[in-house]
Amino acid sequence: MRKFLLFFFISFSVFSQSEYPQDYFRSPLDINIVLAGTFAELRSNHFHSGLDIKTKRVEGLKVYGIADGYVSRIKIAHFGYGKALYVTHPNGYTSVYAHLQKFNPEIENYIKGKQYDKESFEIEIFPTAEELKITKGDVIAYSGNTGSSSGPHLHFEIRDNAERPINPMLFGLDVKDTTKPIISNVYAYPIGANSHINGSNKKQNLRVIPQKNGDYKIEELKAFGTIGFAIATLDKQDLAANKNGVYNISTYYNGNQNLEIDFKRFSFAETKHLNRLIDYSHFKENKERLQKLFIEENNPLSIYNNIIDNGYIKIDDTTSSVYKAKITDFKGNETNLDIAIKGENKLPNDSKEEIITQHYIQHDLEAELEAEKFKVNFYKDTFYDSFFIDFSVNNDTLTLHKPTIPLRKSFTISYDISNYKEEDLKQLYIARLIGWNNWPSYASTKRKENVLSTYTKDLGTYVLARDTIAPTIKAVNFKNGSWLSKYRYLKVKIDDKGTGISNYRATVNGKWILMEYNYKNKTLTHDFNDAVVTETKNKLKVIVTDNVGNSTTFETTFFRK
Ligand SMILES: [Zn+2]
Repeated sequence: MRKFLLFFFISFSVFSQSEYPQDYFRSPLDINIVLAGTFAELRSNHFHSGLDIKTKRVEGLKVYGIADGYVSRIKIAHFGYGKALYVTHPNGYTSVYAHLQKFNPEIENYIKGKQYDKESFEIEIFPTAEELKITKGDVIAYSGNTGSSSGPHLHFEIRDNAERPINPMLFGLDVKDTTKPIISNVYAYPIGANSHINGSNKKQNLRVIPQKNGDYKIEELKAFGTIGFAIATLDKQDLAANKNGVYNISTYYNGNQNLEIDFKRFSFAETKHLNRLIDYSHFKENKERLQKLFIEENNPLSIYNNIIDNGYIKIDDTTSSVYKAKITDFKGNETNLDIAIKGENKLPNDSKEEIITQHYIQHDLEAELEAEKFKVNFYKDTFYDSFFIDFSVNNDTLTLHKPTIPLRKSFTISYDISNYKEEDLKQLYIARLIGWNNWPSYASTKRKENVLSTYTKDLGTYVLARDTIAPTIKAVNFKNGSWLSKYRYLKVKIDDKGTGISNYRATVNGKWILMEYNYKNKTLTHDFNDAVVTETKNKLKVIVTDNVGNSTTFETTFFRK
């Protein structure tokens, strides 16, 4: 039975290699595909779920439906994907287009109707298969820079019928790439107290020696015990300098494969576990993402294949051995790293420093820490590893370790405010101190009777803070009493210094008008082509509220004919 099952799974995975149709989808743009980001490249707390296609530094390029189908989802958000369109195809795949400037007129008209019904710029709609049909090659939208995008580009995804993003390159998109991946850094990790690398029990930065053919070597290591490696690697394409992610990393010990990291497909449920792949504390301290070529316990990532000894190697005698990492990009350009290792049976000269505190967190149990007005609740499996946590409270300041440990899930911080006067309570919130100047950054705070709480994934320093400053609102392209007959847009600038903007609402003569919010230039924009401003004399009223409820109302009059 067991043998049969094994055979079944092997044949299934071989089948799945050839399952991606090659001529079904066209390109979403009609320009050469140049990538600013590759599939599954390492980002902040996630793997990149698609391709970032460069749009010649401009917005407004035509975006095409890559195959027949129907619009199955439209989402407009201030952050994240900004304006995004999802098209479901008859073969079960869904294509996703994000950071769009606008949709085609039919879709634009459809979604504006929904926005006016809901009286909200931010919206998410799942149209039926009959509502917005797409034919392959239709212009469905225009490329843009909306949401959390730092320059004009098209974020493009293909997802399978289980909503898992797949590398779109597998479907035959073409990118010019004859450039080999680059290795910028290599580290070696002695595992356990008695292992050593060049005599040390601590993680070692190895000197990388580039070879003429693009490969890399490391000077022979002397080592003993169980060890593992991590590398910083990136790939460039031919037509741009962007530093992108690689496609595959395979490691070999004395010629036998002992680990493969493969980025063909992943699920959104596992994407946060990127923080288990990278050396997280190294990233927090050095802003460099080292990919560990070994698998620690409690690692749920599905990107590993051909695993021998979890990618670790054991050096237990004085024979010479060779560890090799082969890194490839999607086009098969290959870079090799060779590490010669000589066994040296001796005890390390030093030992890893372990910080011991009063509070030990057992990762598979829940834990509660309490001091003065602060209480911290960790749930089961909040962390990957058990560790001694640094926890202390000094008046309104909570020190909760350093943000150098990755979390699997969020935890709760609460603060008892019953000592505060009722009139002050409203403006209190929990803030996390960030940056070199310890700026108090608003942590989404809920109040239940006399307890404030925040649900967060960040360790660090928290304080109780107070926001007494209301948002500001300013007209941008008009003055009170202006005639705006020839104007296409009405623009207002909104800002908030303390906790940030929670919501905004604009009306003309009491009727809600759609204003698109762009957090990057802090501007609300109304398009008069919506044709909802129909009278000559118009009273504009804009109300903006911050995250603790401080509110500002702006009123003005303009005329149109
Ligand atoms: Zn992207």
